[in-house]
Amino acid sequence: MTRPRFLIIGQGLAGTALAWHLWEREVPFVIADRDEAVTCSKVAAGLITPITGMRLTVSWRYTLFYREALRFYRHCGKRLGQRFFFPRGYVRLLKSEAEIAKWHKRRQDPDMQPFLHPQPPVLDAEVIHTPENGFQQRHAAWLDTTVYLKESRSFFESLGAWMRAEVQPADVQDDTSGVKWQGQRFSHVIWAQGWSAEKHPLLHWVPFQSARGTIFTVQADLGGEKRTLNRGCWLLPRPDGSLRAGSTYEWKFDDPNTPDPGQLAQLETHLRGLLKAPAEITAMQTAVRPIIKNQQALMGTHPTHPRVAFLNGLGSKGSLRSPWLARHLIEHLLDGSALDPELDLQGNRI
Ligand SMILES: Cc1cc2nc3c(=O)[nH]c(=O)nc-3n(C[C@H](O)[C@H](O)[C@H](O)COP(=O)(O)OP(=O)(O)OC[C@H]3O[C@@H](n4cnc5c(N)ncnc54)[C@H](O)[C@@H]3O)c2cc1C
Repeated sequence: MTRPRFLIIGQGLAGTALAWHLWEREVPFVIADRDEAVTCSKVAAGLITPITGMRLTVSWRYTLFYREALRFYRHCGKRLGQRFFFPRGYVRLLKSEAEIAKWHKRRQDPDMQPFLHPQPPVLDAEVIHTPENGFQQRHAAWLDTTVYLKESRSFFESLGAWMRAEVQPADVQDDTSGVKWQGQRFSHVIWAQGWSAEKHPLLHWVPFQSARGTIFTVQADLGGEKRTLNRGCWLLPRPDGSLRAGSTYEWKFDDPNTPDPGQLAQLETHLRGLLKAPAEITAMQTAVRPIIKNQQALMGTHPTHPRVAFLNGLGSKGSLRSPWLARHLIEHLLDGSALDPELDLQGNRI
């Protein structure tokens, strides 16, 4: 079989971006997704942030990924007549003398400069505890993953390219010429199934180290504040007036959907340490981030199954990175372009 036709398994951020790139190139595809109410991509806050973490460093290849994400989400939004990508101010407040000292050093780094807003943030001291000692970031954004995933699904359904199905690896037959599933022929299958890939019999050797995470829905009056705020936890004001706060990282867990009460209590403490305004936690959502040990992500074809491909390990950066990563994989599969060695599934086999 030579004509490309793809089976994509999973319509999270990875599968959705893969499908859009194929659509753009007019290559036929089918997405099979098991249509769960709660998935990692549905729970994700959709934050896209250049300077992150306790170490206050610029996120890996940020400019490359951000440029692509900006173009990609605007293009998809235009096609769907929807807006789901919003550039957003981001205020990071420093939480200790040690962190302030670290920041004074870090902020001199040349790679920081494009992301530093020249003005210090001005925050309402009635709303935020200790609003001093912070900095504003440029080129941060927010992806409304709910709208993006839902509208993309409706569009793919209208093309007859989306179906509800739980795909069992044993039901997907492949040989060197192609792939067969449910009586249909494909040139390739791409498994984009998030952390569930841990149980895939062809991929059991990929060193997943996934992390369960929880996000709160919060009600509070921020007095018109629209920027994302962060100190100990982040707080995201959404256009509908609701707030999200998060998130926890749990590296050891049995049940993917039931968070540890101690972690929830800690997140609430961080939230109340940030927010002075009265706040009520009205809901929470928990899911598992697909993380691969010592990798920013992995993609490519299986070492002994050339028609079986994989895109996974988006960690906590799926909104930022999925557009570029998906294009890179599709170009590899369609055009034979070389994969980035740092991201190549075969080259990083452990
Ligand atoms: C609490 C929390 C907060 C987060 N916040 C952010 C954030 O602010 N910014 C950000 O960029 N990222 C964030 N993330 C991370 C982000 O959600 C992930 O990077 C991203 O969702 C991973 O996407 P994915 O498509 O690889 O996996 P998933 O979202 O897990 O998608 C996989 C899909 O495959 C389906 N599937 C699995 N197995 C099968 C099968 N056998 N047959 C059919 N379908 C199948 C699943 O149902 C699912 O729909 C957060 C994650 C969590 C948990």
